[in-house]
Amino acid sequence: MPLRAEVLVVGAGLAGLSAATRLADAGLDVQVLEAYGHVGGRVASERIDGFVVDRGFQVFNTGYPRAADLDLPALELGCFERGAVLRVDGRAHRVIDPRQRPTAALGTAAAPLGSLREKAALVAFSLRAGYSPVGFLLRAPEETAERALRSAGVGAAAVERFLRPFLAGVLLEDQLASSSRYVDLLWRSFVRGATGLPADGMQAIGEQLAARLGTGRVHLHTAVRSVHPGSVVTDDGTWRADAVVVATDPVTAAGLLPAVDATAPRQVTTHLHVLPESPWPTPLIVLGQPGGRLVNSAVVSDAQPRYSPDGRALVASSTLDPTPEAEVRGEVAAAHGVSPSDLEHLTTVTVRGAQPAALPPLQLRRPVDLGNGLFVCGDHRDTPSIQGAMASGARAARAALGALRRPGPPDHRSAG
Ligand SMILES: Cc1cc2nc3c(=O)[nH]c(=O)nc-3n(C[C@H](O)[C@H](O)[C@H](O)COP(=O)(O)OP(=O)(O)OC[C@H]3O[C@@H](n4cnc5c(N)ncnc54)[C@H](O)[C@@H]3O)c2cc1C
Repeated sequence: MPLRAEVLVVGAGLAGLSAATRLADAGLDVQVLEAYGHVGGRVASERIDGFVVDRGFQVFNTGYPRAADLDLPALELGCFERGAVLRVDGRAHRVIDPRQRPTAALGTAAAPLGSLREKAALVAFSLRAGYSPVGFLLRAPEETAERALRSAGVGAAAVERFLRPFLAGVLLEDQLASSSRYVDLLWRSFVRGATGLPADGMQAIGEQLAARLGTGRVHLHTAVRSVHPGSVVTDDGTWRADAVVVATDPVTAAGLLPAVDATAPRQVTTHLHVLPESPWPTPLIVLGQPGGRLVNSAVVSDAQPRYSPDGRALVASSTLDPTPEAEVRGEVAAAHGVSPSDLEHLTTVTVRGAQPAALPPLQLRRPVDLGNGLFVCGDHRDTPSIQGAMASGARAARAALGALRRPGPPDHRSAG
């Protein structure tokens, strides 16, 4: 194997694969070195007893600008309804986006989310995030999400019963301490898109990007030990290249590149259970309740029936702290209105280093060109999300093409 390429990409997560596909489209000889045995990085899936199990509850949002880089029909997404179920005093209330299901509007209007004025403030917050230009949202004064919601007039009931648990499942923190600007961007993608699961699991996203590279360009089980201008060192030898793009997780990137300062402090634990059948008529995420340990619980096979081999229901329930299954089983059962003994435990996964924090001040578009032919991308360069990872990969590819003085591919996919 010739240990030489025009560009080496270190890491086959969504950032690295986004960079690599653009560089390959521009005609460069790109080789991707990946430490583990699969592509997609943190967006990983496996099969357990025939069920598709993602590594933690994760969803793809079609409202992300970088969704344009993917062949969405080929992913065969199965989508959740836009909204959520919240439980108050044991009773389930379905809060559903009336644009999707006008017949649910009355039920949603009657949900216990505060006074009419407070509900109107929640709608106004959604409309502003969903339909204002991105530049307007990014110029708005920045504060914590909690302060921004309060000053938008969103009341305590809507925050505690709906927004806090809903956003905790995405931000992986429940203090609403994240940047109001990031929450605006996130909410925008929820208003504009649907959240779904590919038929073969979330890992199919990375596999689709990797397939575009053709065979022989992704080298699995090849951990990079050190990075230098023009070369990288692996256990199998030293690779040489005109440019190196480091697309690892934040902590590894900071170890390989002294100029990079990045961490991924957020963590999440997801418990997977099987039920004989789904207790719900439609696919909706059930939110955790104030004072409880669950942030959310969802029958993922309602959204994507192909996650189940035989029609039984697959339930994914997440907590921010690592929790033993026995401690949350009762809460999971209550969320779905079933008996704890109905739940068959399939597996539990705790993901540490799940994603970077997005505290104010939000640092979007952190530098990707470190000079001397070294580039860096990953969710720590943009936002802690699939969108952030893919956008940073696109930026790193453009920077590398510029440095190597190569024109980019026709850009129907400019970075978001
Ligand atoms: C449980 C969980 C749920 C999530 N849910 C969502 C969600 O619903 N929606 C959303 O938008 N985002 C979600 N995220 C965040 C999103 O998955 C990440 O922000 C994004 O996937 C990061 O991609 P990346 O390419 O930057 O990094 P990674 O996915 O970490 O990719 C880095 C790659 O580099 C490889 N690597 C590391 N070290 C080396 C080395 N020394 N040599 C070679 N290769 C190396 C790794 O093995 C990995 O493949 C979730 C994350 C987790 C963990």
